[in-house]
Amino acid sequence: MKNIIFIAPPAAGKGTQSDLLVKKYGYEHISTGDLLRAEVASGSEFGEEISEIMNSGRLVSDEVVTRLLENKLSTVSEPYIFDGYPRNMAQADILENLLKKLNKGECTAIYLDVPEDEATRRSTGRLSCPKCNRSYHKYNEATRPKVEGKCDDCSADLISRDDDTEETFRKRYQTYVENTSPLLDYYQDKGMLYVIHNPIDPNITLEEIETVIK
Ligand code: ADP
Repeated sequence: MKNIIFIAPPAAGKGTQSDLLVKKYGYEHISTGDLLRAEVASGSEFGEEISEIMNSGRLVSDEVVTRLLENKLSTVSEPYIFDGYPRNMAQADILENLLKKLNKGECTAIYLDVPEDEATRRSTGRLSCPKCNRSYHKYNEATRPKVEGKCDDCSADLISRDDDTEETFRKRYQTYVENTSPLLDYYQDKGMLYVIHNPIDPNITLEEIETVIK
């Protein structure tokens, strides 16, 4: 299995696809957003600073995120999913060097091409499990929880993320366009990019992903 780098606007479904790939193929899911949220949940002063940045829709510094990524990488084995990293060109260089240094296998960059209005709609219906991190969407029949407000896997009460308000979402989207979307040309030029157009059904999207990771 190839390692995966997901590139997509916020709320496009990277977390949902990652959950499916972890369950089916044993991928290690490395989400820098989850790593940052764990830091925030620890209640440290540093976590408070990070929380302010995340809730404003901006990016946390490359240095902080890269340190969290490196720590996580040292505890897991391939195949990996990079979800939310790289998020700018500097991070793409850092990741390339890191994978070379660690002598890791091939990556494929998968772009979930979701238009802005659809991503906005998804972000406002998004719910996640605070215990196992599984994500749900209350407006999507295929991904809504079986029992309203409860995780299918561990029955915990589902929560909305603090940064999933419409206002923060707009800023996150703008940050994505400015900082992250240049990665599409970068990976295209390297022949590493695979595009999934307007992914709607998670299981069909998974089938498309399966054609490129095997
Ligand atoms: P989404 O993909 O829905 O935007 P994430 O959970 O990936 O959500 O990220 C949430 C927030 O965490 C981002 O808006 C940003 O502030 C921060 N973040 C996550 N990954 C990175 C990264 N690689 N570099 C900088 N900031 C990041």
